[in-house]
Amino acid sequence: AAGLYFVATPIGTARDITLRALDILASADVLAAEDTRTMRRLMDIHGIALGDRPMLSYHDHNGARARPKLMQFLAQGRSVAYASEAGTPLIADPGYDLSKQASEEGYLVTSAPGPTAIATALTLAGLPTDKFLFAGFLPNSKSARISAIEALREVPATLVFYESPKRVAAMLVDCETVLGDRAAAVCRELTKKFEEVRRGSLSELAQSLKEKPVKGEIVVIIDRAGQSTVNASDLEADLRDALARMTVRDA
Ligand code: SAM
Repeated sequence: AAGLYFVATPIGTARDITLRALDILASADVLAAEDTRTMRRLMDIHGIALGDRPMLSYHDHNGARARPKLMQFLAQGRSVAYASEAGTPLIADPGYDLSKQASEEGYLVTSAPGPTAIATALTLAGLPTDKFLFAGFLPNSKSARISAIEALREVPATLVFYESPKRVAAMLVDCETVLGDRAAAVCRELTKKFEEVRRGSLSELAQSLKEKPVKGEIVVIIDRAGQSTVNASDLEADLRDALARMTVRDA
């Protein structure tokens, strides 16, 4: 049917795509992608031919120019499928303005849901998932980053960040400074060959990254305000150690 179809694509492993997403890519009248080469590669892997269908590029830098073209296809009663570079469109990816305009103009707007690094990381981090706040990428400059983290300090939910491997160590240090030494997880290269999840307090993770830096794509998950990172048995062990030291000194 005519309309705009947002299609979620893999965040690593090419087979992480739904059957419905493949159906839409195979049947849409017009294809649009943040990166047309990535879309073509994905279609090749799954044996989907482009044929003589148009494929347009639509990303943050050409959105204002490319959107009217896509709207025109919708006005002609065609179906348009859009996929971002990876994962779910609109999640730290283009698509918001397109979705807004198409729905405001009364076109069918629908989604073939699928992978997103947010849900994948939350599944593995070992931190509460009942409530979470997706904070996207923090600003690059240190002062702006600190203010952005300060604004999240009292949020009663698990915090989810996207981060680059270059900045993640500095980001963890800033988070510890502003939020305290909360429990956290660094989840990287999810669904890929070098998938890894490091769990610990913010200071432990910062130390671990100093000793063994990470590469690739990263999600950082941080526990909410007011959650102690110390569990009862750790506390008991600490008390026992303290008592033992006192006894020695007193003797
Ligand atoms: N639309 C995507 C989604 O739904 O997750 C996110 C796109 S955003 C431009 C790219 C960022 O998402 C990366 O820098 C990283 O923080 C995160 N990301 C994407 N794929 C990932 C993966 N396989 N493992 C860990 N993080 C990933």
